[in-house]
Amino acid sequence: MVPTIRKVFMRKLYAVLLLFIISSGFLLAILYPCIISIKIQNIDVELDFNKENAHDYIEDQLNIGFRIPGTQARKNCMKYFISKFKKIDGDFSYDIHDFTIHSTACQNLLFKLNENKKNIVILGAHYDSRARATKDSANPESPVPGANDGASGCAVLLELAEIFYEKRTKLDCQIWFLFFDAEDQGYDIGYGMDDWDWCEGSKKFVEDINNFYDINEEHFDCMILLDMVGGINLQFINEQYSSSSLLDELFVIGRNLGHVNEFPIFPHSSSITDDHKAFINKDIPSADLIINFWNNPNWPFHHTTQDDISYISSRSLEITGKTVEQFIFNNYFNDPSKDYRGNYPWEFDISFPSTEIVIFITVFFSIVGLIFLGRKYLHQKELEYSLKHQKEC
Ligand SMILES: [Zn+2]
Repeated sequence: MVPTIRKVFMRKLYAVLLLFIISSGFLLAILYPCIISIKIQNIDVELDFNKENAHDYIEDQLNIGFRIPGTQARKNCMKYFISKFKKIDGDFSYDIHDFTIHSTACQNLLFKLNENKKNIVILGAHYDSRARATKDSANPESPVPGANDGASGCAVLLELAEIFYEKRTKLDCQIWFLFFDAEDQGYDIGYGMDDWDWCEGSKKFVEDINNFYDINEEHFDCMILLDMVGGINLQFINEQYSSSSLLDELFVIGRNLGHVNEFPIFPHSSSITDDHKAFINKDIPSADLIINFWNNPNWPFHHTTQDDISYISSRSLEITGKTVEQFIFNNYFNDPSKDYRGNYPWEFDISFPSTEIVIFITVFFSIVGLIFLGRKYLHQKELEYSLKHQKEC
């Protein structure tokens, strides 16, 4: 008799458990993005990002040649950026940051908009292209064109510079457009350049960052890095070094603009060593807008000779550009009628940890709790049964 009660009860318990796991998964799937989305609503503002311009800026960079550190093409690319900013305003302020890696002269390039404002937002991208296509089985010694890996982020910065310049008097922040050299020469299955590490340029820049701002008067609000933002089939990941309150906010802004595939509710999570990491280490809230580039059948051209203009999508550039544009307007538009509540100042990771962890913890504790309750109930039933049986005897 006792084993039968146990059997029936266990069957019921498993059914309840299964139902609970499924329903709690569904509930989390619905609630998690809602909790963040309710808080963050984009302000009503017209977005001007022009995808054709951005596409042209990638082509311009590719026409310059391979922007490999130490080459004339890399220098020419820097001159090209300067000419673009000078076209916006002949007095556009800029700094060239010189540094050396293994005796190769390298240069980061920094443009500043609204220098009179105290709160600084850094928008960054790397402009060097990889010297060797290490993942290209046919041509591993050939250079990478770097249409997506490098040029796309820079192109978005160039287009954003024009837009924010036009609206500069309405923005309560200083914006830095920061172009990194020497990001992409590290080791994956081979070196881009022998013995180089990843992100050399951003590390050197952060070492010297005090030379570029007034430490007593100015403050870094955040840094947003754009890396591989222009490929076909764009889908951003939940990059784990990023300040999650900042990255979450960018995701919600993108989804609010209707881009639910590009900023998925349950993104892939991974930690990427990229140019934002040096800024995180400097306690500047930072986020990396980047895709899954290592195992992605929808954009399988990373560090190959096929990372060229044929797999660039203007729409991807537009989605990235407009999301960053909206982010700046949401947070810094000096119009009191536009009420916005985001996660500023992004200094604390106030949001949930990665979705997978939230689901795991919830389900794990639910199961443990149910098993505990179930055992207690079963024990009581067995006790009742044996008492009854004893009396009958
Ligand atoms: Zn790369």
